[in-house]
Parts: sequence; structure tokens; C-alpha cells
Amino acid sequence: MKRLIRCLGLLVALTVLTVMVTACGSKPLSSRNVWHTDQQSKTITWGVKADTRLFGLLDTKDGKIKGFEVDLANALTKQMLGKHAKAKFIQVTSSTRMPMLKNGNIDAIMATMTNTPERRKQVDFSNTYFFAGQSLLVKKGSSIKNVKDLNREKGTVLGVVGSDSVENVAKVAPNAKVLQLTDYAQAMTALKSGQGQALTTDNGILYGMSVQNPGYVVTGGTFVSEPYGIAVDKNQQDFVKATNKALKELRANGEYNRLLHKWFHNVKGFDYEEAAKE
Ligand code: GLU
Repeated sequence: MKRLIRCLGLLVALTVLTVMVTACGSKPLSSRNVWHTDQQSKTITWGVKADTRLFGLLDTKDGKIKGFEVDLANALTKQMLGKHAKAKFIQVTSSTRMPMLKNGNIDAIMATMTNTPERRKQVDFSNTYFFAGQSLLVKKGSSIKNVKDLNREKGTVLGVVGSDSVENVAKVAPNAKVLQLTDYAQAMTALKSGQGQALTTDNGILYGMSVQNPGYVVTGGTFVSEPYGIAVDKNQQDFVKATNKALKELRANGEYNRLLHKWFHNVKGFDYEEAAKE
């Protein structure tokens, strides 16, 4: 009996010790310095889209995510940490990107994310790396030519959960009904199956959809500015500074423009100057 009690006591002590060691070992996320950790590991973990053609799209043939943002993240990683550094990519959606950053699953978000005052309460942004604007995608020949038509016709507009596009369109076209899907692949399927008359998000993303679906056109110009920034958790100013420096260097040495042309040369009427605005 005595031996049993002694054994149990030892077990409890061990458990307490393990809990204490674990608690001491893992610093609270807010006190981490992401830039220092990345410098040591020579790795940056980026949250990128996998549902967004031209920016970040999963290629099912080789399992790789491809797009302008993936290439830019790769170029930034090497510019920031040297040519042997590694960029790791984790898939995010419009609604998962913020919690994944906050939980420390990724170091930074590079996922068509607009720098807005609301989001700046939770995260910090780098300088703008792509200047988009919100627009509409409709079937060719649709009676909806712009956001005013959408409002007048009380149409259904499709969007994605976690995007600011759904909030913006509700303000600009209050009579329209907004239907929110989980990601852009689903939103496009919903448009094709007639669940809505228009799909709304940024023009760059819509161009990607129209390249893939020639029966659909981007229409009506842009009705809200959407400057994309790289988002990092609060108190990561070292990372933001390093990112901005590298971004400036890539703009100066022509790499930024090369990537822009690589991904958008197929888009009719693409405005390179507008997209490259800071
Ligand atoms: N740029 C907009 C946003 O940050 C829409 C694109 C997206 O859903 O990522 O919400």
C-alpha cells in the first residue's frame, strides 16, 4: 500500500514538473520576435491563398501553390535572408488568414489582403505591394453592368466570408442580397449555377476568373480601393521593416515588375501602373 502511495506521489510530481517545464519553454506569442526566429532558421512561413488564380492557386498536378504572391514571397524571402533561405507556404482563405496568423501558424499573410483601418486594430501591414480595386464579375450580356444596376435590380451578389468585399458591396448597393461562400472556387461555381447575378471581389482576382471562364467579364470599373499589404501580428516591427526594405529593393531592381508581367500579361487591359501604385 505504502509503495503504491509513493508511486502515485511520484507520478503527480512528474506531471506537475512536465506542465511547468512546458509552460516555461513556450513563450507567449506576443513576446516572440518573428524576424529574429526567421533569421536563425533562414525560413519564412507565409500564409497564401490556394483558391485564387493569378495570386495563389493550388496546382493539383504537382501539389504546388502558384501565383504572383507566391513568387513575390519567394523573392522577398531571398532578398531578406539570402539566396539559400527557404519560403514555406501554408494555405489560407479569406476567413482563416487572421486566426492562423494570431495563433502563430504563419509568420505573415500575403493573401490578397487589403490594408484597412479595421484590420490595423489587430495586425500591422507592410507597404502596399499590389493596388487593387473592388469590382463585379458577370455573365457576358448580363443586364448588370455596374454596382448601381445591381442595386436597382435588387440582384443577388456572391462573395466570400472574411473578405471586406461583402461588407463594401452591402454599403454601396444596400438593396442587393449578399450570399457568402467559403472560398473563391465555390463563389465561381455559385455564379455559374445561377445562384447570383454577380460575383464581387477585387478586380485582379476577378480577372483570374474571367481568364479561366471566358463567358464571364469584369464590369463597371472599381468602386472601392483595395491596397494589398503583407500582414504581421502586432509588435513585429522588425519584420515589417525588413519586408519594406526588401520590397523597395525588388521594385528598384526590376524583379517586382518582371513578376507582375509574368502573371498579368494575359489579362486584357491590365493597368500595370495602377497595380504597382504604393
Ligand atoms: N482584398 C479583399 C480583402 O482583403 C478581398 C479579397 C479577399 O477575399 O482576400 O478582404
